[in-house]
Amino acid sequence: MTPFKFSIAENPSAAIGLLSKNDRAAFLAGGTNILDLMKEQVANPTEIVDLGRLKLSSIIASATGISLGALAKNTETANHPIIRKDYPLLSKAILAGASAQIRNMASNGGNLLQRTRCSYFYDIAMPCNKRNPGSGCAAMEGFNRMHAIFGWSDKCVAVYPSDMAIALSALNASVKVMQTSGTERIIPFGDFHVLPKDHPEKDNSLNFGELITSIDLPKNNFAGHSAYVKVRDRNSYAFALVSVAAGFELQGNNIANAQIAMGGVAHKPWRATKAEAFLKGKPATKAIFTKAAELEMSTAKPLSHNKFKIEMGKQTLINAFELALKG
Ligand code: SF4
Repeated sequence: MTPFKFSIAENPSAAIGLLSKNDRAAFLAGGTNILDLMKEQVANPTEIVDLGRLKLSSIIASATGISLGALAKNTETANHPIIRKDYPLLSKAILAGASAQIRNMASNGGNLLQRTRCSYFYDIAMPCNKRNPGSGCAAMEGFNRMHAIFGWSDKCVAVYPSDMAIALSALNASVKVMQTSGTERIIPFGDFHVLPKDHPEKDNSLNFGELITSIDLPKNNFAGHSAYVKVRDRNSYAFALVSVAAGFELQGNNIANAQIAMGGVAHKPWRATKAEAFLKGKPATKAIFTKAAELEMSTAKPLSHNKFKIEMGKQTLINAFELALKG
């Protein structure tokens, strides 16, 4: 690990001020990803700005929804009584991720900022445009079983690893950020993470020095009909090959509204807009679910080792729809 300076911030403005003075500094919240990156020398910050004293860990319900503090822990968020009652999709997705020990340490803001688990990204002997822009993409011609089938570019085929963020995408969350000027801006969740295009070194739309203060969720009508399904190589402590977060609003046996996102398939949470549009107003039957899933997967572009993700994606969508219907 490269030696670094350790600075402690007392409030959000001080944290942003410290980071802004050093373009090789990094924030530290739960530390569950950045410390691994530093140990492997994938990230080499010269200064760590500790956020542990910032008062950003409240979870506050209001008339319009709920606000999740950026520093609230994943475990606390998943087990919060209002999240369990009104946003069970989020609770299920968080509990499907990582391990109990990691969820106890990981913060909500940090969860959104975790980096890809592409094995070539973590191997500093290999070319990787995300770690070292311009060096190439070892996964493109290498072993790419875990990689993307939607939205990839010839610069990067990595997938985004969070489970929590897939549910947040389906639930139309937004991310509240304090800018370096001290003013706030709100980023709709769909605009927060980005596709790789020509700049895979950039995972999201944050500017350097900006600090996530909360993740905000509007009220929804999905509490009775939602599901998170994660398919992975082993049942615990593994990242998704494919995952699906689905919420239905039903009128009788018809689907009045469907909000669906997929994980393990793209560089960002992949909102299943084709399936959503197809399902709206249709009866909730297996035949309709199958057509919606086929439509969504019809534009997938697999790599040499992950063609199986197309059928797996279809079946995982259908499975999530059926579980959401049962509630
Ligand atoms: Fe790097 Fe992306 Fe290629 Fe993986 S897929 S080696 S993260 S550029």
